[in-house]
Amino acid sequence: MRCPRSSASLVGLSAHLNRRLAPSSSITRPRFSRDHGQVTFSRPFLSWLKSKPPPKQPLPEILSGDNLFHPLSQSPISSLQKRAEEVKSLAPCPVCIESHQPQKPQQFECPDCGWPTHCTEAHWKEDAQHKVYCGRLKEVNEDEHDLRSGRTMAEFQMPGTQAYEEAVSFANWDVFWYTRGFASMDTERSRRHASKLLTYPITVASLLHENSGFTIRNQRVTPEGLRSFAALRMALHQPPSVEVETEPRPPMRLFILGARAESSLPPHVWEQLSHLFPGASFHLYMIGPQVTLPANSSAQPAPTAKGVYEPPTLKPVSNQSRTRDEQIQFGVPSSTVAVSPTLTITSLRASYSEVHAHFGPHDPYTDAFFAFCPGFGFPSPTSPPDLQIAAPAEWGPVLPLLLETKCPVFVTGFSPTDVERDVRSLENVPGVSGEFDWVVTPGENPFGSEKWEVADFDPRVMVKTNWGVWGIRGKRREVQKEDGY
Ligand SMILES: [Zn+2]
Ligand SMILES: [Zn+2]
Repeated sequence: MRCPRSSASLVGLSAHLNRRLAPSSSITRPRFSRDHGQVTFSRPFLSWLKSKPPPKQPLPEILSGDNLFHPLSQSPISSLQKRAEEVKSLAPCPVCIESHQPQKPQQFECPDCGWPTHCTEAHWKEDAQHKVYCGRLKEVNEDEHDLRSGRTMAEFQMPGTQAYEEAVSFANWDVFWYTRGFASMDTERSRRHASKLLTYPITVASLLHENSGFTIRNQRVTPEGLRSFAALRMALHQPPSVEVETEPRPPMRLFILGARAESSLPPHVWEQLSHLFPGASFHLYMIGPQVTLPANSSAQPAPTAKGVYEPPTLKPVSNQSRTRDEQIQFGVPSSTVAVSPTLTITSLRASYSEVHAHFGPHDPYTDAFFAFCPGFGFPSPTSPPDLQIAAPAEWGPVLPLLLETKCPVFVTGFSPTDVERDVRSLENVPGVSGEFDWVVTPGENPFGSEKWEVADFDPRVMVKTNWGVWGIRGKRREVQKEDGY
C-alpha cells in the first residue's frame, strides 16, 4: 500500500525484547547529562522495581563493544549475512547506472563500511560520492551488530507505571528520558536504539500530552489545533476521582492507519504510552493490509507487496490468555489483546475504509488518527499516474472519511523531503484539498528515531523513522456549538 519503508524494520530489536536480558537488579539511578535548567524533577525510582517480569538467564555475549564492525557478508550474525545477500540481489551499482552501463549487482563490499556498495572494486574506487555515505553506513553496520551482540541492553529497560503527580517533560528525548526515569543513555548508540524502539508510542504521547512541546508559541500548533488538543486533553488528564465512579470513563480511541512495524511492537512498548496518562485508558486500533496479528490468530500471515522490498516484520506476539479473535465482529482478520487494565490493542488487517463504519460515531474528545510515514505523495503502484493519497486502492477513500469525523489526523514522514512530498500531495485531491484546517504545522518531530535506516534496494537511501510530523482536521463550516465543538 505504501512506499518501501525501510525505516520500519524492527527485527533487530525483537531479539532483545523477546529475550529480556536485563536483570532489574542492575538498574542504577539515572543520570542526566544535559543542561535542564533550574527545574528539579521527582525521580520515580521505585517504579522501576515493579515494572518487569523476572529476568531470564542472560545469553552469552557474541560480540564485545570493541568488536562490532564486520563486513556484512562475513558477519558472525547470520541475519546480517542474509541482509548482505538482499542488498546484493536488489541494489544496482551506482557507477554502472551513471555511466549507462548494463546494471550489475553490487558484489563488492566496501572495506570501510562493510556494505555491498558496487559491482567491483574498480567501480568502488572510481566513485567519489561513496564517502558521503560511507560513515553513516559504518555506523549502521555497528549498530546492527551491537543490537545482536547479546550484551545487556540497559537502554531497553522501561519504567513502570507513573504516579499522577509526576511531571514528565516532552521537550526532547533527553529531558523525556530523564523526567520519566529511564536509565541514562550514555552513548549516542544507546540513544539511537532507544529512540528507534520508542518513537511510535512517544510521538503519540508527545502530541496529546498537556506538557507537549508542540505549542502555539513555537507555532507548531494552530489556534484550530489548540481546540482539538483541548478537547482530547480534557479526557486524558482528568484528576483521579475520589469517589467511586458509577460509569467507567470511555477509553481514548487511537486509530493507527496503514500500520506495519508499529503493529508488531511488543505490547509493553505501547504500554509506555498509557503509563504517561495515569487515570486515562486507551484502545489502540492498528489497521492496515499489512498489520501483524498475534501468533494464535486464525488469520493467515500478512501478504507481502510484490516488486518492492518490504522489511521483515517481527514474529507475532503470542499471548493466548489475553487475546481474542475478532474476525466475526469486524468481518476481517482481526484480534484484540488486553494488555493491561488501561490498554487494549485491536489489530485489523484491512484497509481503513472497509471497517470505518464499525467505529462511528466519532468523537473529537476521545478519538484521534495517526498515519506513520504513510507515503501519501508517492506514486501509486496500483493506479498510475495517481499519487497514493488519491488512489482508490490506497489512501483515496480514507482521507475524506477521516476529515468528515472532525477528529485530528497526525502524519509522520521519514525525511524533510518525504514530509514535503506528503504535504504537497494534499493539494488538488477532491474531498481533501480545501477541506481541512491545520492542527500541527509540518516540521521536525523531537521524538523521531535517531537511527539511520538503510534501504536494501539502494544503500545510498537512508532515512529516519518519524523524522517529521504534522496534523490536520476536517474543516468546520457549521455554526459552532456552545462547547467549542
Ligand atoms: Zn559498477
Ligand atoms: Zn563504505
